[in-house]
Amino acid sequence: MQHGEPLDELVYSEVMFSDTVSGELPEHKRFIYETAIPYFEKRGIPTRVLRGQKTYLDCFYHIVSRGNAEGKLASFPLTGRCSIQRDCKLPPIRTYQKTLPQDTVYYLGIAADEPIRLARLKANQTSLLAKYNLTEKDAQAMCQAEGLLSPLYAFTGRGGCWFCPNASMRELRHLYNAHPDLWQLLLELQDVPNKATERFNRSYTLHDLDLLFSLEGEQLSFFTYGER
Ligand code: SF4
Repeated sequence: MQHGEPLDELVYSEVMFSDTVSGELPEHKRFIYETAIPYFEKRGIPTRVLRGQKTYLDCFYHIVSRGNAEGKLASFPLTGRCSIQRDCKLPPIRTYQKTLPQDTVYYLGIAADEPIRLARLKANQTSLLAKYNLTEKDAQAMCQAEGLLSPLYAFTGRGGCWFCPNASMRELRHLYNAHPDLWQLLLELQDVPNKATERFNRSYTLHDLDLLFSLEGEQLSFFTYGER
């Protein structure tokens, strides 16, 4: 906008956990709907919100039809090969793209210092950050200055679904402490029988993580008590 680049609209594909629960952490969802979308609306740029037909739960309960896990529930997406992007996030974008003129150009938020991602850009995609030689750090500073930095960045360097198998321990700990209702939804899935995998991520089941975080909490209260 600051360079006068043409921009018709923003497109946001919201991954859903279920028909009613978003895949975004609540504080990030609030930021998107209450800060980011209104910011651009005020400047004449509308946001188109898309949602796929499939939710995380649809993917979780999908019955595998071949291979070693045939007949089992697909269950937790795999670390490094998450199916949620493919099945929930991208399909509504692709469907919407089909309704747009062929010569539509898509701006992607890839910074000048992300050479691997930049090399993957297709002919109809472009990065304005790269065009104006702005790094990830520059982009963060610009967002901060405009009040457009999601509260997520207070505890993580990445955005992602709250059920992401690639989430760091810090992100998982945040989910456990700040959103026990969402944590409970994951714990309930751990108890569903006939899953293709018992592990939530590469190393742990949700019960392992639950125990770990609850012990951390007990230790913390022990130390706090001792300091009185
Ligand atoms: S943030 Fe994680 S769970 Fe969500 S689509 Fe990406 S890899 Fe999958």
